[in-house]
Amino acid sequence: MKVLIVSDVHANAIALEAVLARAGVVDAVWNLGDTVGYGPEPVRSLELLVDRGADPTLAGNHDLACVGALDLAAFNPVARAAALWTARQLGPEHRAHLLSLPSTLVVADFTLTHGSPRDPVWEYVVDAAAAAASLDAVATPVCLVGHSHIALVASQTSAGNDAVLRPLRDGDTLDLSHGRYLVNPGSVGQPRDRDSRAAYALLDTAAGTLSVHRVAYDVGETQRRMAEASLPAPLIARLARGI
Ligand code: ZN
Repeated sequence: MKVLIVSDVHANAIALEAVLARAGVVDAVWNLGDTVGYGPEPVRSLELLVDRGADPTLAGNHDLACVGALDLAAFNPVARAAALWTARQLGPEHRAHLLSLPSTLVVADFTLTHGSPRDPVWEYVVDAAAAAASLDAVATPVCLVGHSHIALVASQTSAGNDAVLRPLRDGDTLDLSHGRYLVNPGSVGQPRDRDSRAAYALLDTAAGTLSVHRVAYDVGETQRRMAEASLPAPLIARLARGI
């Protein structure tokens, strides 16, 4: 089975369309959450993923905040402003959809979660210690996370051992058949690893491999739509720099 893994789309429908086009025909789409928040097209992003049969789709902290299921006081001012704008764009059907989503789920050999298995909504796994603790918290050999917007892999030879963590670059391919792995595919709509291109991963369950990819999209057009929606300037500027 070939699976497209996306995360942190953040209402950047132009970036999402570039990813869906480049990924081509797949058997499934797994979405690790934060489909909305920050970007200019929350409804279209949700609809593109529903149309492509994304299942499971997880709820991230922004998804929950935009439907009132998470306290906005936990957000910084620009994230809060974007969440309030996003909430006004969503209809009852979009709110019901977002409220129905889990934040963590097990699919065969894979634990999927937005933040981490220890804290699916809030924890950022960006160092080896947090990655080892995450791997020790799951029963499956592979754990897929989003939330940090940084494509990375942490590997562990067996449960209870230290983890080795490294960033993932465009074209990197992992053999998942030995040991235990935590993988973040990176962010579709707001990458933060100084590569502005949209990030995604392709999983081949038969081969036991996972590859990470980047695809350029029209950043300027997303920025124009954000400006038109009067979204906060720092959120517009950061897209061009991948931060
Ligand atoms: Zn996010």
